[in-house]
Amino acid sequence: MAGYLKRDWEPFPMDTIKRVDKPTTRIDEDKVKRVSERETGFCKAAAGDYGPKLQKEVRRFVEKHPLSAATAAIRYAMKPLVDGLVAIQKAPLPDDPALLSRHIKETAYFLRADAVGICELPQYAVYSHKFDFKNPDAPPVPIELKHKYAIAILVDQDYRTSQAYTGSDWISNAMSMMSYATSGFIAIILADYIRRLGYPAKAHYAPFYDIVVPPIILLAGLGEMSRIGDTVVHPFLGPRFKAAVVTTDLPLLPDKPIDFGLQDFCSKCKKCARECPSGAISDGKKEMYNGYEKWPLDKKKCTGMRVGNQRGSGCGTCIKVCPWSKPYTLFHRAVGWAMRHSAIARRFAIWGDDLLGYGKPDYKNKWWFDLEDVNGNGVLEIPKNVKSEFEER
Ligand code: SF4
Ligand code: SF4
Repeated sequence: MAGYLKRDWEPFPMDTIKRVDKPTTRIDEDKVKRVSERETGFCKAAAGDYGPKLQKEVRRFVEKHPLSAATAAIRYAMKPLVDGLVAIQKAPLPDDPALLSRHIKETAYFLRADAVGICELPQYAVYSHKFDFKNPDAPPVPIELKHKYAIAILVDQDYRTSQAYTGSDWISNAMSMMSYATSGFIAIILADYIRRLGYPAKAHYAPFYDIVVPPIILLAGLGEMSRIGDTVVHPFLGPRFKAAVVTTDLPLLPDKPIDFGLQDFCSKCKKCARECPSGAISDGKKEMYNGYEKWPLDKKKCTGMRVGNQRGSGCGTCIKVCPWSKPYTLFHRAVGWAMRHSAIARRFAIWGDDLLGYGKPDYKNKWWFDLEDVNGNGVLEIPKNVKSEFEER
């Protein structure tokens, strides 16, 4: 096993990132109240809290582009597999949580995860109630989840595509749904594998989460909270990912949170606030909310843009423009290293990002068709805001 423990194995050099005992975002754990899933933006839209127009639009905003619809549909097909029977006898595994953690992470990478981290599951990160998105009038169902650990799995939304799109055009939702479905696929297999080893495990992925994802990613050492409200930024992927989680009682060794200078960077950068089409992101200071110190996000405005966008499908403009969302090339690794280690480099990077035109759509990489199911009957049309599939806006 000595060779096994020595070789390089993670896609990104997370061992070079500074580990800290507490997350860089203050969390007053005794003050955080468990929230119902109904309080999330999409559920509030589905329940009619944001008015009848968004309540109607929330029924079609995923399905209106055919690739978004296809990548979203598979998530519902996988749902019966999130939990299941546990083997009657525990497998003969090493009695070493560090080795088991390493094995679980390598399994997730084998299943095509882009980043994996482990934390203890805090009860405040478990939703109090489940909301039935397809039946919003049904009473919310209380959630009880006592697993000890959470394994966070991140899947990249694809840099090449994110380079090509505007942030809120017709591919945006498909990028989200692809990462939701793929991370869910990995979580389902990983949870099934752990149950076959003799330990309880459950997969959580969009829209079937029993848990609040951002604090889990944060505690699992995969990123820091950013100016984009509840969005966590990874040191090598930026905010360009979606996440699934496996909760389990398999004895694991939690990772520590990380500090790569993002709080300082976000306090000065503000590019996402400047570029957000709905004005949902604050350019001000952090505030305390439900025990978390974070930059406030106007959930209603953001949901209104993502659900009600009439010139595209969804929105990920903040994800596209963030200077931390870069390809994993030698040049960007060197710039990222400097950004992590020097406040002067951070200032220079903020200035240079705009100067070099990052955040603007690069149509030479466009590969998708702009199509819309206008009437919800499966008939696809070229959307009104584009004249042909490859027209440059
Ligand atoms: Fe703004 Fe779009 Fe990001 Fe929402 S998803 S915060 S609307 S840029
Ligand atoms: Fe932070 Fe700038 Fe990224 Fe916004 S765009 S999350 S301010 S680094």
